[in-house]
Amino acid sequence: MKEQVIIKLQQRGVKIDDLVPVLYELQSPYLPNLTYEKCKDNILAVLNKRDIQHAILTGIALDELAEKGLLEEPLLSILRNDDSLYGIDEILALGIGTLYGTIGSTNFGYLDKGKPGIIKKLDTNSGKVNTFLDDLVCAIIAAAASRMAHRHRDSNNG
Ligand code: MG
Repeated sequence: MKEQVIIKLQQRGVKIDDLVPVLYELQSPYLPNLTYEKCKDNILAVLNKRDIQHAILTGIALDELAEKGLLEEPLLSILRNDDSLYGIDEILALGIGTLYGTIGSTNFGYLDKGKPGIIKKLDTNSGKVNTFLDDLVCAIIAAAASRMAHRHRDSNNG
């Protein structure tokens, strides 16, 4: 299923290599020996988790249904307009952002607010419905950052 998730993300305009620099910027102040390769490894490790795969497939499916006009009102307009009072996109994403501990929610909030790199691109992609996708991308990066932080601490403590 991991390959299908990666293909699905790609179809929606998100390559794994787009997430790497965002994760690097987020974590490099804390991890001096960080490399792009390490970032990519952690992103791919996060995508191994079934909970995360399910959340991604669910969120993207809703984005696609909204894009094709296949949802009923009022949900259709809510998703198409990325209604700021909706919040279910964030709830779904937060669920996966915190799979590696609560530090994930801090990272998620930071990414959601600052919208670095690919996240900004998704947020301003006209004609596409990325209501769930932008939060999912934040959550994947947040989870990868948390995974990295916990592993770093573990390896330092011997
Ligand atoms: Mg959203």
